[in-house]
Amino acid sequence: MSGRGLFWGSVAARFCRAPAAFTVSRRPLLTSPPSRAFAKELFLGKIQKKEAFPFPEVSRDELNEINQFVGPVEKFFTEEVDSRKIDQEGKIPDETLEKLKSLGLFGMQVPEEYGGLGLSNTMYARLGEVIGLDASIAVTLAAHQAIGLKGIILAGSKEQKARYLPRLASGEHVAAFCLTEPASGSDAASIRTRATLSADKRHYVLNGSKVWITNGGLASVFTVFAKTEVVDSDGSMKDKITAFIVERDFGGVTNGKPEDKMGIRGSNTCEVHFENTRVPVENVLGEVGGGFKVAMNILNSGRFSMGSTVAGMLKKLIGMTAEYACTRKQFNRNLSEFGLIQEKFALMAQKAYVMESMAYLTAAMLDAPGFPDCSIETAIVKVFSSEGAWTCVSEALQVFGSSGYVRDHPYERFLRDSRILLIFEGTNEILRMYIALTGLQHAGRILTARVKELKRGNVTTIMETVGQRLRDSLGRTVDLGLTGKLGVVHPSLADGAHKLEENVYYFGRSVESLLLRFGKTIVEEQLVLKRVANVLINLYAMTAVLSRASRSIRLGLRDHDHEVLLANIFCSEAYHQNLFTLSQLDKHSPENLDELVKKVSQQILEKRAYICTHPLDRAS
Ligand SMILES: Cc1cc2nc3c(=O)[nH]c(=O)nc-3n(C[C@H](O)[C@H](O)[C@H](O)COP(=O)(O)OP(=O)(O)OC[C@H]3O[C@@H](n4cnc5c(N)ncnc54)[C@H](O)[C@@H]3O)c2cc1C
Repeated sequence: MSGRGLFWGSVAARFCRAPAAFTVSRRPLLTSPPSRAFAKELFLGKIQKKEAFPFPEVSRDELNEINQFVGPVEKFFTEEVDSRKIDQEGKIPDETLEKLKSLGLFGMQVPEEYGGLGLSNTMYARLGEVIGLDASIAVTLAAHQAIGLKGIILAGSKEQKARYLPRLASGEHVAAFCLTEPASGSDAASIRTRATLSADKRHYVLNGSKVWITNGGLASVFTVFAKTEVVDSDGSMKDKITAFIVERDFGGVTNGKPEDKMGIRGSNTCEVHFENTRVPVENVLGEVGGGFKVAMNILNSGRFSMGSTVAGMLKKLIGMTAEYACTRKQFNRNLSEFGLIQEKFALMAQKAYVMESMAYLTAAMLDAPGFPDCSIETAIVKVFSSEGAWTCVSEALQVFGSSGYVRDHPYERFLRDSRILLIFEGTNEILRMYIALTGLQHAGRILTARVKELKRGNVTTIMETVGQRLRDSLGRTVDLGLTGKLGVVHPSLADGAHKLEENVYYFGRSVESLLLRFGKTIVEEQLVLKRVANVLINLYAMTAVLSRASRSIRLGLRDHDHEVLLANIFCSEAYHQNLFTLSQLDKHSPENLDELVKKVSQQILEKRAYICTHPLDRAS
């Protein structure tokens, strides 16, 4: 394998570590959530029904408890938070921060024994819907607890939890997560900040600079990742990343001025510098040399909440936009009477429904006992919701026409605020690679023997495969048990269920072909990996909406017919997208234009310019 191949292989391998080693103390969840990760099995053409059906159920007691938290928070956000002022002044007012603290929102997932609310992931997702109404506040709170203090909850010792969590939960101390550096963004493993053990072995001396740190100017407690020398298993000294809890009061900690950002302007983002900061050895978070795993576990566990946060914002936006469309007249008709405007509402509702369904399904998976590795699912939720936010906000702004483009209205702010979602918490490019590589690695482990036999030319395996492909090409009926006698999908959604089953089956077949065709070199095939990820995102999304809509029908929930419509439209569109994408995965299909695309981009990048001659130029 090439050097670059090794790089990607090791990235996938490092990412693939399951977070099972950590223990978290939180409220027991009374739902009946799925107990194992689901997405990986889709790579094998299988649907683990039990993992995603029925849709997780919340007990009445738990629902009451959630609503008790949600009510006052919703009241505060709708009546008191001035998002326009926050955006214009580039700062969340102190009194707003104080109120957020008094509502307990700085300690949502901190266990109750340390003064927090101890919310489950499901409850956290629900509150996220409300908090998402102001993007600057949502990012500030997420940086504090979803990443800033999360490492202490996941990997901290009893002493570290007792020392830090109470004041972080109350908001007396604000936390920040310091990973990114000027030369180390997506490639987080390449950080240069260094922590050197002092001669008396009682401190690490920390030196380095971090950039783009949310809450960097407000925080007094930082989770910092730095390179440390560790003795490797072969006895040699190696540089490995270690995570540290660093207090501003340790000395040598400074921050730059807040970045002048395009959106989420009220959140504080700045550089943070550490100069000979003495960090006691007791402040190592997790194991020395185990920092990369800590960082990935923090990021993997937090991403799912973007689904409900964005859905909360979109639900509000749909209401505001519908109000306008039903009153603004052009050509003597309300905008709402035009098909092209109506279509935008169906799209926005569909995206909100899908991301909400995936967010709560994933939250329940994370709440399940045993802490299954849901890192693919959480990455899917993040990619889908961030792109859904961008698309929907842009469509909503289009409905408002010119009024959408001015600062007197909030729509341009929504657009500016939502753009960051595709960049931070792992860029969507990196997460697509992660989704595809992690799943392919899982499939590869299970299919190794079969792929080897095929490569060796084992006649029986080859004949079996040829027979299978022949049956596939004739068009087979795929039945993975979603409907019928032991079915889990309601009959009104049978068409969507059959589409999902067919897509899953052929996805599994494609995965096997790709492993056979590329082997380990698949890590270099980003255009292939992107398609693998895109199909998987759709498959998980189809599963989530079918599961949720089936539950809604079963319980006779209000407006379940509307849900069925959304689920059916989504499944049908996703099915056709998947068919096209799967066909593109075949190198010889006319839909696959990869070689042409690569040629164009290579020519541009070689010249670092647009190449075509101006249309008015002449040959002579
Ligand atoms: C407002 C804001 C808040 C932030 N908060 C924090 C924080 O609290 N803590 C923290 O540590 N960091 C934070 N970040 C940093 C953020 O997580 C990084 O900016 C992000 O990880 C991307 O790194 P980068 O900007 O260096 O981009 P790069 O890594 O240079 O990437 C640039 C582009 O290239 C793509 N790319 C990179 N590598 C590959 C590849 N191998 N294959 C294909 N495409 C690739 C990326 O997807 C991206 O589109 C924040 C950033 C912003 C803007």
